[in-house]
Amino acid sequence: MENIFEMAKKPLEKASQVINLDGNTSKLLAQPERTLEVNIPVRMDDGRIEVFTGYRAQHSTVLGPAKGGIRFHQNVTMDEVKTLSFWMTFKCAILNLPYGGGKGGITVDPRQLSRCELESLSRGYIQRIAPIVGEYADIPAPDVNTDSRIMGWMMDEYSKLCGQNVPGVITGKPKTIGGSAGRGSATGRGVMLCTREAFKKLRMKLNDTTVAVQGFGNVGNFSAKLLYDQKAKIVALSDVNGAIYNEKGLNPYEVEKYVQLTGSLVGYPDAGELDNKSLLELPVTVLIPAALEGQITAANADRIKARIIAEGANGPTTPEADAILFKKGTMIIPDILANAGGVTVSYFEWVQNLYRYFWTEKEVHARMEEMMVDAFDKVYTTAQLHGTDLRVAAYIVALERLAEAMKLRGWV
Ligand code: NAD
Repeated sequence: MENIFEMAKKPLEKASQVINLDGNTSKLLAQPERTLEVNIPVRMDDGRIEVFTGYRAQHSTVLGPAKGGIRFHQNVTMDEVKTLSFWMTFKCAILNLPYGGGKGGITVDPRQLSRCELESLSRGYIQRIAPIVGEYADIPAPDVNTDSRIMGWMMDEYSKLCGQNVPGVITGKPKTIGGSAGRGSATGRGVMLCTREAFKKLRMKLNDTTVAVQGFGNVGNFSAKLLYDQKAKIVALSDVNGAIYNEKGLNPYEVEKYVQLTGSLVGYPDAGELDNKSLLELPVTVLIPAALEGQITAANADRIKARIIAEGANGPTTPEADAILFKKGTMIIPDILANAGGVTVSYFEWVQNLYRYFWTEKEVHARMEEMMVDAFDKVYTTAQLHGTDLRVAAYIVALERLAEAMKLRGWV
């Protein structure tokens, strides 16, 4: 299989050709500015020392400090982290945020760790990457299997190292210690807003439209609930253990309660069971992949029936699948636009931390909606102007900003 980082660069290459990007700018964007690999010792509950490997990548800082989440997953590699940091550069540029792209991760299955071991690993990781992060250098956030509690531990550890409180070093924190209202739901809210805008462009109504969501974590859960609030019919949901399906519709708030009780949505009453692969191929109008990358490939793209794919996850569709779906007339709202609500509210959190003044949830939602709708419009118009799909258009929007910044800073 092709290397994930090389694969991720395909739409960038296409976009560069469309706008005739100069070779020097392309060269600077083809590799991350900096990567760091660390080894983190953790004393396990049974007294053993276990050593975990972690990474941080800073792809580009031309628009500002690096920004991007931290993933805890058994399949995390340096290549994956580099790729995720690359996507962050473009995501931040599309939303016009004063940030570059960063990402981090630890190769670990956190389900195998006790609470104490998890805290120790989280603190150890931030200690090891402390030389390259900071509120004006690189600002991490949550990603797969990391949450506000872990962000709180990391902020605390970093603050201790600095001998002062540094809430702006990390976003996605609990509210009491500097988190922003609306950060928890932000990525899912952005997915909902982009889907709503796509429906407007296609002159379709969200009412009773059918939706399938792969992944019921932070992104999938809020995408499902917020689309349900818009009267869409959520017919299928899944997590790592399997998928549930009911053509009459599922109430994601009830499913959430079930997950809180049992740890998984599998076994939810009043729903049939499916596997995760079949969920992707259901006859629905909207498909939201919100788990991991590489889910929609040349092997299954032909069988995908959704009219719109809103990419909650990063990198769920391979370039080959992209081409097949574009030919079929499927509208793909690309990850770097669809899931940008999270980094947008992370930006709001950082701004609030820097000036120690907090906004209401209503203000956060309103500002984010304005920025997401503007970004969607800009990408949509660019696609029409150049006759490209939305993914290439999103890269064009970002590239124009990145190229200008590089020129103005004298990098090219
Ligand atoms: P999460 O850990 O909260 O949830 C992940 C969900 O996916 C869980 O329900 C898990 O059970 C499920 N899952 C894992 N492997 C699966 C598989 N093979 N098949 C089906 N389901 C599977 O993670 P998250 O924060 O919701 O992130 C999900 C995706 O969204 C990732 O690609 C992440 O990079 C991206 N993303 C997250 C944010 C954010 O703010 N959290 C922002 C932008 C993009």
